[in-house]
Amino acid sequence: MRKPLVAANWKLNGSIRLCDLYAAELFPSTKIDVWIFPSAIHLAYLAEQMRDTNFGVGAQNVYLEETGAFTGETSASMVAEVGGSCVIVGHSERRKLFEETDELVADKFVATRNSGLVPILCVGELLAERESGQASSVVKRQIEAVIRRAGATAFDDAVIAYEPVWAIGTGVAATAEQAEEMHAFIRELMTVHNEGTKANLRILYGGSVSSGNALELIQQPNIDGYLVGGASLDVGEFGRICTLAEQ
Ligand code: PEP
Repeated sequence: MRKPLVAANWKLNGSIRLCDLYAAELFPSTKIDVWIFPSAIHLAYLAEQMRDTNFGVGAQNVYLEETGAFTGETSASMVAEVGGSCVIVGHSERRKLFEETDELVADKFVATRNSGLVPILCVGELLAERESGQASSVVKRQIEAVIRRAGATAFDDAVIAYEPVWAIGTGVAATAEQAEEMHAFIRELMTVHNEGTKANLRILYGGSVSSGNALELIQQPNIDGYLVGGASLDVGEFGRICTLAEQ
């Protein structure tokens, strides 16, 4: 049985005040896992606030190297040192705006693993790719790039987030049927590479999740939670989404 996971991606938003609001107003649950991804600069503060809770705190991105002359970057071991436990790898905004290739994403996945942190690997197709019938081949390519570099067993305890790019920040979420179809495809694909991942792999849906669509999504057999962007900036709305994931 897979425990639902709800992840909050604050992107380039948030503040000490939002960290305090999360610490004060988000109620812990034993039925679901909740992981929060503030900016790198707020990570240590939020991790400290959440130290005695079961909330996880993580980074939205890490660099592939541990140390060195890489001005402006943050490494996975630094995230771990300040109490982080997880990392978002390959978010579509990083792939698009920062030109992260499948290969670089794979290197970051490995760097995350090497520091003992849990990666959430984000995959998903552009609208044009869906419209031309390439959605599943794009997702397959993105996942297999990581398997080639890290091996399929590197996904043991890891998380995949299916985030169709056309649904991120647009208010137009995938339908539950569209999401379920891709999640089932991902689970089957992973099973081909490693039978052991079939039952355990958590696959999140991301893209305009709100309290209005969360219940229908979580009711699908292969949807194990959400990666929430915009709606996570409102702790009340995020709390409602978490409650729906408990159903
Ligand atoms: C995201 O940032 O991963 C995301 C899914 O954003 P939103 O929920 O705003 O679509």
